[in-house]
Amino acid sequence: MSLVGVLSYQGGYVRHLERLQTLGVRAIPVRSVDALERIDALIIPGGESTTIGMLMERFGVMEALLSRIADGLPVFGTCAGAILLASDIEASDQPRIGALDVTVRRNAYGRQIESFEADLRAEDLPDPEWTGGDFHGVFIRAPQIVRVGHRVRTVLAFEGQPVLVREKKMLAATFHPELTGDSRIHRYFLDRIVGV
Ligand code: GLN
Repeated sequence: MSLVGVLSYQGGYVRHLERLQTLGVRAIPVRSVDALERIDALIIPGGESTTIGMLMERFGVMEALLSRIADGLPVFGTCAGAILLASDIEASDQPRIGALDVTVRRNAYGRQIESFEADLRAEDLPDPEWTGGDFHGVFIRAPQIVRVGHRVRTVLAFEGQPVLVREKKMLAATFHPELTGDSRIHRYFLDRIVGV
């Protein structure tokens, strides 16, 4: 049975660990290279991407993760996790994994609407592997994905912009699927990408 890690330095990692347990998946927090070497897939939670990136570098996890991703480790980043996966972060030279060919704009929805919820409509789902209908998205100081590379597929969009994208074994959401009771996005990652 697969072992799924959740990067657990800062941010919303507890909810992801709980969700994985609810889904009957073995899950562990990851804070060290040792733990990283044991897992079959990794979730990178929301939080503060600069802080998480700095801690990843400090504990040697950044370098080790890059090599595991190059070897095909499935990775799912939510919000700050999506920022850390992005190859380009507008106006920032913060530490990043940089393996996903997208450009993100941090805190892109502005101060007035730092957090909001929106129904991501089923007709905005061009990915034939997605079997669900609407998804309720919780956005908290969310980034926008303002460019996607040609190998990146949009799974869910909101107001014409990608909010859930996939490239190879990487999945990135600009919102927080762990904060709703709906497990379809976790399931999508586990069933379609990790293959547990
Ligand atoms: N604004 C945060 C950042 O730029 C991300 C917010 C979140 O993960 N909910 O890192």
